[in-house]
Amino acid sequence: MAAGLTVPVEYVTVPRQNGKTQKAKEALPKSVPACKDCGSTTRKLLYQGPRCTTCWRVEKKRRKAARQNAYQGRVFGITLEEKQRVIDFQGGGCICAPWTGYAGQTRSLSTDHDHKTGIVRGALCKHCNDLLGRVRDDPRYFELMRDYLLNPPAVQVLGERVVPEEG
Ligand SMILES: [Zn+2]
Ligand SMILES: [Zn+2]
Repeated sequence: MAAGLTVPVEYVTVPRQNGKTQKAKEALPKSVPACKDCGSTTRKLLYQGPRCTTCWRVEKKRRKAARQNAYQGRVFGITLEEKQRVIDFQGGGCICAPWTGYAGQTRSLSTDHDHKTGIVRGALCKHCNDLLGRVRDDPRYFELMRDYLLNPPAVQVLGERVVPEEG
């Protein structure tokens, strides 16, 4: 070989059967696509990374949490972890949970705040959040409704009158 000439790295000299040699492409191990997270080369890599289905599910969850966390911070000034602490303090669900079956639906709980002061109050299900909006956060509504339910005006005026059965 002439001095100064170099053989590209991917070429090697391999012996031939007739005793001569030949330059040939080295049988480099082909780079096998592997999952970015678990390193699997046997699973189908269908998603960004590339990632296998299992790792993509985990990654999607992580991204969603990061998005939610950013949203909480931007809109309410609290972290997801802080929101969860509030939910735990509330007993794991919306405050109406004991009697409406909304218990445990923490993922659907909205962060509620006082629109006048901006102070974060807690986490509510859609039902309670909508109700608060309709009564304009007025605690008097609940006092009046409490009295209404415990001491119905029609009973006071007419006595216990029962609606006719349907049919
Ligand atoms: Zn994987
Ligand atoms: Zn509720």
